[in-house]
Amino acid sequence: MPDKWLGVDLGIVNLATDSTGEAHTGKGVRAVRRRHARLRARLQAKGTKAAKRLLKARRRKESWFARDVNHRISKHLVGKAEDTRQGIALEDLEGIRDRVTVAKAQRADLHSWSFYQLRTFITYKAALAGVPVRLVDPRNTSRTCHQCGHCDKRNRPTRDDFSCVWCGFAGPGDHNAAINIGRRAVSHAADDAA
Ligand SMILES: [Zn+2]
Repeated sequence: MPDKWLGVDLGIVNLATDSTGEAHTGKGVRAVRRRHARLRARLQAKGTKAAKRLLKARRRKESWFARDVNHRISKHLVGKAEDTRQGIALEDLEGIRDRVTVAKAQRADLHSWSFYQLRTFITYKAALAGVPVRLVDPRNTSRTCHQCGHCDKRNRPTRDDFSCVWCGFAGPGDHNAAINIGRRAVSHAADDAA
């Protein structure tokens, strides 16, 4: 088992951010989704057979695009972990719903198939590459300061930003969370050994 773990925070604004601070933006996916949503609205208004056919083709294209993005991100993350001899730490899915920083409106998106797909891709590509994956307790990973350990929901003034009310550390919220996730894998490893 490795003693180093690449923590990966999966999210909405950034699809994946790792503990080194590298973020994979969901920008392209969101842009395509928006473009398709507009087109869908126009086609649905038409309601013709041809429009329905087009709609179906569009949906397929949209999911291919998201799938391709997920393949690229997962391949990159697993390659990075392999090259640096690290395991990959992910949050245990259940707790993600508890995150206060996730607004209601985004929950549907967060729980969409694309989000699960990325996790699945990371897990199976890691297995193929022999990179261990450890699921960690996700509680408070987004509220806890990786610098001083202070946990407070006020540490997340906005969805994207982390700003510790105790020590003053500030930075992107998902990077802070990814560091915490990576560290939890280390402490879990200690549990295994004990
Ligand atoms: Zn702090």
